[in-house]
Amino acid sequence: MPLNVSQHPLVAHKLSILRDKRTEPKEFRALVRELTWLLGYEAMADLATRPERIETPLGPITAASLEPKVGLIPILRAGLGMVGAMLELLPTAEVWHLGLYRDERTLKPVEYYNKLPDAATVQVCLVLDTMLATGGSAAATIDILKKWGAARIKQVSIIAAPEGVATLQRAHPDVDIYVAALDKGLNERGYIVPGLGDAGDRQFGTFAGPSSEPGHGPDDETAEVVRRLQRRLDDPAE
Ligand code: URA
Repeated sequence: MPLNVSQHPLVAHKLSILRDKRTEPKEFRALVRELTWLLGYEAMADLATRPERIETPLGPITAASLEPKVGLIPILRAGLGMVGAMLELLPTAEVWHLGLYRDERTLKPVEYYNKLPDAATVQVCLVLDTMLATGGSAAATIDILKKWGAARIKQVSIIAAPEGVATLQRAHPDVDIYVAALDKGLNERGYIVPGLGDAGDRQFGTFAGPSSEPGHGPDDETAEVVRRLQRRLDDPAE
């Protein structure tokens, strides 16, 4: 199933606390970690295993061990908070950092850091981003991972907007998406509504960004990009 919205009551409960504007960064980070465990558990439910002969203290058994090598690709910066939990689930995973930032005016992703080796070293990639908003960074990251040779890619996000899901499914229909919630949509600044605000600021306590910065105030260009994504949702042929 390409879009998986968790139906787990623990996920719903933790997400409510995460969304609450009174939740402080320390608790916010803990919740991102706990939600990532739960989403990671769901996202990896179909990974292949291979039989492995082992001895328990009481005798031999054919047990299972995980077959594919998994890579974690956090989208900086908000995706960083999801890495620790995924590594607890999968201690042998490789973590590859790709730096893409969202140009706050055009909402287009701009690559600024990429140290991937020439050929893919993992079979399954989990792209981690707390918020699947416009889907631009996710689609661009997955473009890079496919060129790299990743055989299978999954997107794990805490909250998605329909616009972001549509962008991603249009660009990469083969990528499964796992989220805790699918919200109503994007506002004119490209933020998910009702969402939880800025996931990076809420994790890292960086609330002092001047309101005059691009993207922090009303901006015609950003609003136009959001309107275009919204029109595309109404008419996918656009
Ligand atoms: N990034 C965020 O941190 N929040 C949103 O709502 C959208 C993008």
